Amino acid sequence: MKNISITYARSAEGALVHVSEAVKEQAYFCTECGDRLSLRISRLQPGEKGYQKSHFVHRRGSGCSSETIARNQFRRKAAELLARKIEEKSAFPVVWKCRVCNKTHRLNLLEGVAAVETECRIGEWRPDVALLGPDGKIKAAVGIAVREKPDSQAVQYYETNGILYLQFYLQSAEDLDRPEERLSQPSPDSGCPSPVCEVCGERKNTAYLRIVDTACYKCGRPTKAAMLVDGATNDEVYVILGPEDFTPEMIRLAEKHGVIIQERYSRTREESYLASVCPDASCAGFVGEHYLREYVWEDYPYTGIELGPVCFNCIEKAKWLKEEQEAEEERKQEERMIAMMGEACKPCPECGGILEIQSRGYGGLPYLRCCNYPDCTYEEEFDMAES
Ligand SMILES: [Zn+2]
Ligand SMILES: [Zn+2]
Ligand SMILES: [Zn+2]
Ligand SMILES: [Zn+2]
Ligand SMILES: [Zn+2]
Repeated sequence: MKNISITYARSAEGALVHVSEAVKEQAYFCTECGDRLSLRISRLQPGEKGYQKSHFVHRRGSGCSSETIARNQFRRKAAELLARKIEEKSAFPVVWKCRVCNKTHRLNLLEGVAAVETECRIGEWRPDVALLGPDGKIKAAVGIAVREKPDSQAVQYYETNGILYLQFYLQSAEDLDRPEERLSQPSPDSGCPSPVCEVCGERKNTAYLRIVDTACYKCGRPTKAAMLVDGATNDEVYVILGPEDFTPEMIRLAEKHGVIIQERYSRTREESYLASVCPDASCAGFVGEHYLREYVWEDYPYTGIELGPVCFNCIEKAKWLKEEQEAEEERKQEERMIAMMGEACKPCPECGGILEIQSRGYGGLPYLRCCNYPDCTYEEEFDMAES
């Protein structure tokens, strides 16, 4: 990890001066300890051996580390920038890939924020910058670091208190020149703004109802297909669910957007399920499960409607359980069949012939009858539930 050198100092008049504007004849002072600083102007060109960008150094040995100076300078710049944005009533969009839920978060850092504070204390923690709501309560806490990871207890504390924690790492002295750029990209070590599922404890994801414009594979008519996905853009989508997994509200919303959802029988699945169907009632075309995936990966035009947080883990678990149950039911059915075959090999107690399975017709349970029927009329009940 590279060292961050001192690039900003105070002039004798108290103004903040960047090293590129500093001149040898002037005196400069440390923004933190107030000691005199010396100006080191680089005489070499970038790439030359021994090249170092121009910077300030303390004249005498000092307890000030250049990292602490950079952090504090950035903290003040960040606070100033955000305060100005609040005054201008502008949004401050931030986007980051979250390490907690593995999703990309996009939000307006200043949503519902009325003030910025740099000297806040909450519990035993002291965020570098705190963003306050109109009621004076902390909504978000900002941590600025060069390399230290955030204290996990602090992050936990913030989350339990409904405060979003955002961590920023200064990567170079240039971050101080472009605080807006650095602040728009929180680190993956930030807290997760997605709520925790009350049922399974996993993070919920922002769900999107996606309406895809496609054509019926049977008749070619323009057809709209609905799906539920867990990300706004294609590279964020991991879960793709069809109308059979929709809640009644989602179905209503999809229908409002022109999707026709009806039950259809799938020969591949050998069962009926809810699907988006062709607008022509005489055409039996519908969007099967496998097509939904194709519509995501093959860039069909779509509209995404944000639905808010949904626990995809719970939905998938329920789906998986249902499949397990169905598989179990099939397995039992098979066992019964095997047992039946075994029974059928029993000899007839009256004539020694072989007992065979006979059907009683629609709805009736099968029974065992002697192969010598009608000469021998022996028969017995066959109890499927017992085997
Ligand atoms: Zn100092
Ligand atoms: Zn997250
Ligand atoms: Zn059609
Ligand atoms: Zn859940
Ligand atoms: Zn018999």
